[in-house]
Amino acid sequence: MRPSLLNPLFAPVTSLPGVGPKQDKLLQYLLSRNETPRLVDLLLHLPSQVIDRRARPKIRDAVQGTMVTLEVTVDRHRPPPPRNARAPYLVYASDETGDVVLTFFRAKPGYVEKLLPVGEKRYVSGTLQMYDGIPQIVHPDRVLDEEAISKLSGIDPVYPLTEGLALGSLRRAIAQALQKLPALPEWISPEVMRRCHFPPIAEALTRVHQPVELTDILPDRPFWSRLAFDELLAGQLALALIRAQLRRPAGIRNAGDGHLRNKIIDALPYALTLSQRDAAAAIASDLQQPVRMLRLLQGDVGSGKTVVALLAAAAVAEVGKQAALMAPTEILARQHIKTIAPLAERAGLRVAILTGREKGKERREIIAQLAEGEIDLLVGTHALIQDDVIFRDLALAVVDEQHRFGVRERLALTSKGEAVDVLVLSATPIPRTLVLTYFGDMDISELREKPAGRQPIETRTISMSRLNEVTDSIGRALQAGKLVYWICPLVEESEAEGTEHLTNATKRFENLQKRFGDRVGLVHGQMKGTEKDRVMGQFAAHEIGLLVATTVVEVGVDVPAATIMVIENAERFGLAQLHQLRGRIGRGSEASTCLLLYSEPLGEMSKARLKVIRETTDGFRIAEEDLKLRGEGDVLGVRQSGLPGYRIARSEVHGQLITQARDEALRILKDDPKLKGERGEALRCLLYLYERDEAIPLIGAG
Ligand code: ADP
Ligand code: MG
Repeated sequence: MRPSLLNPLFAPVTSLPGVGPKQDKLLQYLLSRNETPRLVDLLLHLPSQVIDRRARPKIRDAVQGTMVTLEVTVDRHRPPPPRNARAPYLVYASDETGDVVLTFFRAKPGYVEKLLPVGEKRYVSGTLQMYDGIPQIVHPDRVLDEEAISKLSGIDPVYPLTEGLALGSLRRAIAQALQKLPALPEWISPEVMRRCHFPPIAEALTRVHQPVELTDILPDRPFWSRLAFDELLAGQLALALIRAQLRRPAGIRNAGDGHLRNKIIDALPYALTLSQRDAAAAIASDLQQPVRMLRLLQGDVGSGKTVVALLAAAAVAEVGKQAALMAPTEILARQHIKTIAPLAERAGLRVAILTGREKGKERREIIAQLAEGEIDLLVGTHALIQDDVIFRDLALAVVDEQHRFGVRERLALTSKGEAVDVLVLSATPIPRTLVLTYFGDMDISELREKPAGRQPIETRTISMSRLNEVTDSIGRALQAGKLVYWICPLVEESEAEGTEHLTNATKRFENLQKRFGDRVGLVHGQMKGTEKDRVMGQFAAHEIGLLVATTVVEVGVDVPAATIMVIENAERFGLAQLHQLRGRIGRGSEASTCLLLYSEPLGEMSKARLKVIRETTDGFRIAEEDLKLRGEGDVLGVRQSGLPGYRIARSEVHGQLITQARDEALRILKDDPKLKGERGEALRCLLYLYERDEAIPLIGAG
């Protein structure tokens, strides 16, 4: 249960005066997407900029076009004449050096009178302009009396907004939420507080939302950093708790003598690369240890992760135990079984596949065999985690493309055996800091070399205006017997309801079919699995030469003979995705070409992205560039530059803090694994505050 101390922060935003249903909707969109926005969401929405209103010149000295705060006496009002309601409401004010006109358009009756009473002194701030030689401020941002101004620093925070939400009302809501902040216990250790110069959380929140200095809102300053550390510590603590829970009871050994593995290696038509051998050895050694394996196998597309996974499965089969390999898509699962089955057969390893497509009798048989222990390795999709899929003795779970699965799915698969060892395959090379953020303290193996004999890929960027030339050259390639992918993007998310998002691929397919006839095929995500396989099969068998596809071919699809890829609207894809897509070619012994078609005009960001893709095929470099580019802030807004799933921590600013938070989390669990003492209580607060409390049931009632 959430500590009652935190309850005020988890009240809905609508409990604040002045926040109604309309604001609620907007705040939901801005802050929490699909849940009811609460006060805590407001407090963790940090400013992106500040406005400096501290300049207090005399009217005569005020610089045109700058933000000023003037101390004036209100002289007289000139409401719009009755016949011309559109004319502005003017207020004349002055100080001892000159006059200024304050202009209000469409002011509500009575509003300006109350705001600026004649004869009174007021502080008025806004951008000073000259109109007919007279200084003027149109719609002053703030009009304050002596008392009000003494309470403000003159630096106003500016927040990321969403259309329809006024800055003023967001500011007011956040200021009110700050008032409700309860006294929170300190969960950061005194050493870390000292070393990092962190302020207490209340001070940190107050100073970013009510800055006293311009720099107070910068992410690398102590106030923001303290909050980022909290968020990271909550994340690391949750991961460490999960991991501690997953530790295997001592004594179980899950790897045999190597007899099956050797048979597989003998059956391979190629030699393993050095890094494949290293990875396989590291995994085997993990499996031997009486501690549960949590290992990430990172390797660029085409680096040969599948065979390493197969060797891991063989190792557990050597001691009569079972393995499961879960892939995110049906295509990918079938691809795996295709690679694996012939090798497994030679070694006498019994494999089967289970996806949504295996139904009725077929499914029942697989499930029965699995329970009997007659299947050594079961490959599949989400279908593997259904309740009635029961292993006789599951010892190893291999999860491909992990970032597509949530923690829940990961746990669901590992709970099908006792102290199951976990191997995660990732084709998107993840920089170390991100591995820590998302997976916690995992061991990592990398496949850095490409298998021998791979040809480089030449990548070119071409404007859509030259589509005809591109189509002509594709025609020549088809004539020469080449296999070509033609990738079309999904339409923007918001339009992707129903079937609309298929129009791109479908239209392109129809166009190309007109030109090249039945040598063209189409696959997309809405097609039935069997239908997809049929078309993919035709492509692999050279029955069709040109495959129009959406991003369903993004992961894992392996047709080594395919050597050309056209990516339409390449500017709409992320870097990682382009890299994944391109990884479908360059897998055979022939040189490959990738054509990135873009629509003009191309934004700076898209230009930079395409340049990176053109220049390198090194997935690790691409991942790093991707972070850098996104770190610099996408035109789409500030949110983009954060770590997905994190609101405050930024990989480019807080990289150091990630490792510190990791170390701190490990130290905490070593000293107080059940989070019991006073600090333990405080840390539980932290987990709830940042909503990492899913880990709390794991430590029991404490
Ligand atoms: P990924 O890492 O993208 O999952 P795969 O495991 O699908 O890569 O391997 C891609 C292709 O490379 C497969 O056709 C596989 O048979 C082949 N392959 C794997 N290892 C080697 C190797 N050491 N030498 C040559 N080819 C290899
Ligand atoms: Mg793969």
